Amino acid sequence: MATTLSAALLRFHHRCCLPPRSSPRRCPASATGFPRGIHPLNSLHSCRPPRSTAARSSSTASPSAPEAAAAEATEEATQAEADVREEERVVLPTNESSDRLLRIRHTCAHVMAMAVQKLFPNSKVTIGPWIDNGFYYDFDMEPLTDKDLKKIKKEMDRIIRKNHPLVREEVSREEAQKRIEALNEPYKLEILEGIKEEPITIYHIGEEWWDLCAGPHVESTGKINRRAIELESVAGAYWRGDENKQMLQRIYGTAWETEEQLKAYIHFKEEAKRRDHRRLGQDLDLFSIQEDAGGGLVFWHPKGAIIRHILEDSWKLIHLQRGYDLLYTPHVAKADLWKVSGHIDFYKENMYNQIDVEDEFYQLRPMNCPYHILVYKRKLHSYRDFPIRVAELGTVYRYELSGSLHGLFRVRGFTQDDAHIFCLEDQIKDEIRGVLDLTEQILGQFGFRYYEINLSTRPEKSVGSDDIWEKATVALKDALEDKGWEYKVDEGGGAFYGPKIDLKIEDALGRKWQCSTVQVDFNLPERFDITYIDSNTEKKRPIMIHRAVLGSLERFFGVLIEHYAGDFPLWLAPTQARILPVTDNELQYCNDVASELKSRGIRAEVCHGERLPKLIRNAEMQKVPLMAVVGPKEVQARTLTIRSRHNGEIGTMLVDDFINRIQVAIVNKSSSL
Ligand SMILES: [Zn+2]
Ligand SMILES: [Zn+2]
Repeated sequence: MATTLSAALLRFHHRCCLPPRSSPRRCPASATGFPRGIHPLNSLHSCRPPRSTAARSSSTASPSAPEAAAAEATEEATQAEADVREEERVVLPTNESSDRLLRIRHTCAHVMAMAVQKLFPNSKVTIGPWIDNGFYYDFDMEPLTDKDLKKIKKEMDRIIRKNHPLVREEVSREEAQKRIEALNEPYKLEILEGIKEEPITIYHIGEEWWDLCAGPHVESTGKINRRAIELESVAGAYWRGDENKQMLQRIYGTAWETEEQLKAYIHFKEEAKRRDHRRLGQDLDLFSIQEDAGGGLVFWHPKGAIIRHILEDSWKLIHLQRGYDLLYTPHVAKADLWKVSGHIDFYKENMYNQIDVEDEFYQLRPMNCPYHILVYKRKLHSYRDFPIRVAELGTVYRYELSGSLHGLFRVRGFTQDDAHIFCLEDQIKDEIRGVLDLTEQILGQFGFRYYEINLSTRPEKSVGSDDIWEKATVALKDALEDKGWEYKVDEGGGAFYGPKIDLKIEDALGRKWQCSTVQVDFNLPERFDITYIDSNTEKKRPIMIHRAVLGSLERFFGVLIEHYAGDFPLWLAPTQARILPVTDNELQYCNDVASELKSRGIRAEVCHGERLPKLIRNAEMQKVPLMAVVGPKEVQARTLTIRSRHNGEIGTMLVDDFINRIQVAIVNKSSSL
């Protein structure tokens, strides 16, 4: 198989935390093969931390009246959906939360290597660490098939049943070398050379097999539940992650403490696959990325575009209500502007080549910030003007290598829901608090209620005085505490220009997605020399805050597709109602009804030309929330018989009643009529 599931999953997790652009396959093989502590690969998977660490938004804070109303509406809207999804949620132990599980996975890697060498005596062993959901081991051998994996698993079962003890032995370097040479294991010899400390530790599995390792393991193979492990896939991987070196066979396995855990994990994996936004995007005709136009450039089809319109409209309304001004600014600007901002010096690798316009160089924008500063600078400001909040759905372009592109999650052009706040030092706290409220209001619409929040403080290299860093950091903390949100502090993890708050949302599957960010900036006001006149008519520098709630509209849409599994709630659904005639005799009436619905703001369409059961099935496949079935009786009485995707038959009602009920449900963001 070209792309194995497991590898795909790894890549998937890899992308969601946006680490550097290296392939996760290129696992920096450690000196020992089984390093003490966490394998470096694990850090790439840390974007799905144990659920227990997730900060829960607290309900102790007392929200303002409109906020409470909004929160209530959201609560109502999402409760039914959340109830369904709660059952789908998987609570599984992790390597960090369960030492026993980590030992099981580590031991499984050895047991698998032993089984492989028993079945394929010419295979050479290399390394095999534990990873997020299991383990892998790399072998130098002929390519393996799925059938081989079944044989290997059977052999592993045999080894487990024999309950071989795992025995640790310390030997000298010379002794280890002698034994490895006797086995003719060149990779193991290379690993040995990399081990600096002595004595060398060896682990035996019974009498028959041993491996260089630092542990830890379970006491005997019988401690592994053979029904809780599965070999998932095989993929090519280069020795030492170096494409100039030998191509190895990497077998991925998953291992758990119990059979129930394995089942839950498999369910999770299937769910993740079922929800894959790239597949759903195609099946539901939401968006595409076309070879003819180039990678990482997104085409929003009518059904995806309408969802974006709804998101944007609601986003704009909320911003206007909360005292933001909306902007539109250009997608390109003179290269000099990016020189002043510092992007050409510090952000160049993310920017495209310059464009020559009448001998002057222009640059596609990777960020919106300098434009908003230019808008600020168009006139003099007094301290009385603050806070100034400007927001824009601003499209930016960033250089990404084709190999790192991934559906809507990593693209080359995307639209940020960006905003910048200019304010006084003593306004920081209130402004941040305002951003947190707005964030909750926007994200709550989609049922995102669990947040993981990080506050990052001053790094070693930074600009700005001690005093301003202290003030801003305290303001961020106060705002979070005021809001009643739990958060973790990442000491020294801030940007060089200021402290920041990052917020991850948790989707219906319990996966975490980084979306919102709030960053204080002491750098750009300096670089662009922006000022205001204070109460003593002196020139001062304002504080600048960058913030985004959804992050990138493209990426957020990808998250939404996976969160809802393409099954959008009524208020977001591209088609809210399908009108289905039993025969074509009812077609005219159906068309009239559709026109009426559309004129009243409801997204409706007529489908016909098939037998009714087929029409209903098609609507189900397209995840249309409501179906209105029309036979001769309905035409006669000017009614509709309504069927809801989630609540079954609702009954027969007048067209007007149907419209009213939909309109109420949309206002309440509820999916039930
Ligand atoms: Zn080991
Ligand atoms: Zn910015």
